[in-house]
Amino acid sequence: MVPQLDLKAEYSEIQSQIKKRVIRFFKSGRYILGPEVEALERNFAKFIGTQYAVGVASGTDALLLPLMAYDLKKGDEVITTPFTFIATATVIARLGAKPVFVDIEADTYNLNPDLIERKITSKTRGIVVVHLYGNPCRMREIQALAKRHKLFVIEDCAQACGAVYRNKRAGSLSDAGAFSFYPTKTLGAAGDAGMIITNIKKIYETIKSLRHHGDDGRHHAYNHVRIGINSRLDEIQAAVLNVKLKFLPKWNRQRQSHASYYDERIEKLKNSDIVLPQTTPNSSPVYHQYVLRVKNGKRDQFLSRLRNAGIQAAVYYPTPVHLQSCFGYLGYRKGDFPVSEQAAKEVLSLPLYPQIKKSHQQAVINTLSSL
Ligand SMILES: *Cc1c(COP(=O)(O)O)cnc(C)c1O
Repeated sequence: MVPQLDLKAEYSEIQSQIKKRVIRFFKSGRYILGPEVEALERNFAKFIGTQYAVGVASGTDALLLPLMAYDLKKGDEVITTPFTFIATATVIARLGAKPVFVDIEADTYNLNPDLIERKITSKTRGIVVVHLYGNPCRMREIQALAKRHKLFVIEDCAQACGAVYRNKRAGSLSDAGAFSFYPTKTLGAAGDAGMIITNIKKIYETIKSLRHHGDDGRHHAYNHVRIGINSRLDEIQAAVLNVKLKFLPKWNRQRQSHASYYDERIEKLKNSDIVLPQTTPNSSPVYHQYVLRVKNGKRDQFLSRLRNAGIQAAVYYPTPVHLQSCFGYLGYRKGDFPVSEQAAKEVLSLPLYPQIKKSHQQAVINTLSSL
């Protein structure tokens, strides 16, 4: 059995530190917005290279809250990719605004900057980009466009924690970066958690208020200056994340090294159905997923052969967002975003995580070599 991911292997690497920190947390009696959250916000902002960070309850809320801070409303439009996890687009819709999709690049699966401009209207307020699978978008082009049209840019960094583009970390390349610490992400909590980072003081202060019922910054004054939500990051999650953040650079290097191992071995198979993952120039991706493209209609055959061999391969994502029934009201049809639709039929994620054994990678390669 070759698992897609093994969180127990990760835990065994860090268990003594986690135990100490979690016991200290229980003994402190501080369970909400205490020293662990404050330390994590400081450590995380420093790690990414931004001024401010706000811990929140999930990656989804980390996307929602900056949009609330930009006062996104009914009638507004926000440009984003149809090839992502559903949450990237639903947060826009939840505020009554309209997600406007733009197709992806065939090689990186990220939003195609060359196709954005023609979708900008007088109602467009911003762009939400996704660094899919941990590989950064072409942010230079996207930022130039946003400046020209006075649009905000938010990065969905749920899969790109620690990734680098032109010597800056993902999340620091725009107005705000949204991170998920869902357990399977490159930096994962022991449950749900998220973080927003920004260099804009006003956005920081607004988000900090919004996550705590729109209070005026004094938590127990019960004075509410805007309509907020409850989206706090739990102290216990912050305690776990403060331990794990120190391991992240090493874990990301291991992911990169395992990805090169796959690259070299799979290249040698000279299988004309397989296209290796392509990365954005001048970037250092973190391989949240290692994704092959399997052409000629053979993806599902590859998937079932791998699964029959006990290898947990997976597909992220089988249905593009514009074709999800929850977005039926937007009126999109099959064929509207051909590059995304083709990708949904051809992508295949192989098992990859920092602690993966070489023998498991070799088993994957052996199975691929028989196809
Ligand atoms: C995981 C993920 C999210 C949502 O994060 P949660 O913490 O599960 O709410 C959003 N966008 C992308 C691209 C993701 O991978």
